[in-house]
Amino acid sequence: MIPSFHFKSGHTPLLISMPHVGTTIPQSISVNMNQEAQIKADTDWHLALLYNMASALGASVISAEYSRYVIDLNRPKEDSNLYPGQDTTGLCPLDTFTKQPLYKKGREPNSVDMADRIKQYWQPYHSQLQSELTRIRALHGIAVLWDAHSIASHVPRFFTGKLPDLNFGTADQRSCSPNLQNALSEIMKQSTHAAPFSYVMNGRFKGGYITRNYGQPANNVHAVQLEMSQCVYMNETAPFEFRPDLAARVQPLLTELLSTCLHWANS
Ligand SMILES: [Zn+2]
Repeated sequence: MIPSFHFKSGHTPLLISMPHVGTTIPQSISVNMNQEAQIKADTDWHLALLYNMASALGASVISAEYSRYVIDLNRPKEDSNLYPGQDTTGLCPLDTFTKQPLYKKGREPNSVDMADRIKQYWQPYHSQLQSELTRIRALHGIAVLWDAHSIASHVPRFFTGKLPDLNFGTADQRSCSPNLQNALSEIMKQSTHAAPFSYVMNGRFKGGYITRNYGQPANNVHAVQLEMSQCVYMNETAPFEFRPDLAARVQPLLTELLSTCLHWANS
């Protein structure tokens, strides 16, 4: 079996997590799925390319190998709704963001299948994420977790209208120090790199399971989720090409935001 995640250790207090970049669907699962699933439209496309400054910043990076259609690494394994009262996709989604069924009729995963996917795909990612945060905190006394995401700028199922370009989530200021959130807000308000982009703090996306579970400011682990509108750096329709011309505009801002996390952690 292909390992369920990719991991590269860095030498600073920053860990970048990319739980939705995976596109692999094992044959034993895809055989039960519709053609729609093979498009993998709901992937957080090209984040490794977009975050190509991670290595120069000395950040550790963990990213998923398997598609979120197999299992969603940013959901609790108990599968409780992260946004009570609002529509959301679950731990093992049954449909796409546009509500197309992922599985052939009667071939949806049962509780045994789901338990198996938690063991094979979910747990290894989270075990590695936790052990890296523990290592970083032991070494530096502090850890900053940046949970990197992207989504189409129009998804009527989840939000009306067009999403802001950058959507920061800190679990309503519970997943990181207010000082870190303020430092990021200042960049968005004042940096010339930020000027072309719209943003919101704790709007529709407040941080998923990873941000909420691992962000423990009292223990000096600070987590921020960035949900980026895909129109900022790629084509939003299949085949979802990366757009280097667009990405080059937002990458200096990303570098500045991540550097701000590091400066803050080292201060
Ligand atoms: Zn995502």
